[in-house]
Amino acid sequence: MHETKVLAQEILDRTGQNVYLCYQCAKCSAGCPLAEYVDLTPSQMMRALQLGQDGMVLNSTTISLCASCQTCNTRCPQGLDVAHLMDTLHIIARERGVQATCTGRSRFPGYLFCATFVCLGAPTKRR
Ligand code: SF4
Ligand code: SF4
Repeated sequence: MHETKVLAQEILDRTGQNVYLCYQCAKCSAGCPLAEYVDLTPSQMMRALQLGQDGMVLNSTTISLCASCQTCNTRCPQGLDVAHLMDTLHIIARERGVQATCTGRSRFPGYLFCATFVCLGAPTKRR
């Protein structure tokens, strides 16, 4: 039978990124161009992963909306590759059949932007 791993462990296995190195400085979130439009900012995503809130993470709009701009990576004092982590979470969510819903900060025009990308996927993630 296929074993579903805890997300933090699965991310470590697939990417080498240890989410427990994050100490919540929130520099990633401060630079993220989409932070205003997602339900979990990058730093909140890291915290949720540390706390084992796997369902919250996989159902977040963040992994669908992330534009892979890598701003978070350049700002992280711990050298975490947050963008790679987001891409990997996107893949895991698809593998597990999880479809993100656009909840949270649903404000115009952010809502339209968000809804469009959740439906179509960010350009770098379309397959
Ligand atoms: S890679 Fe994604 S999470 Fe990181 S700053 Fe860019 S949009 Fe935000
Ligand atoms: S910048 Fe790095 S250490 Fe700071 S909150 Fe973001 S992921 Fe964590």
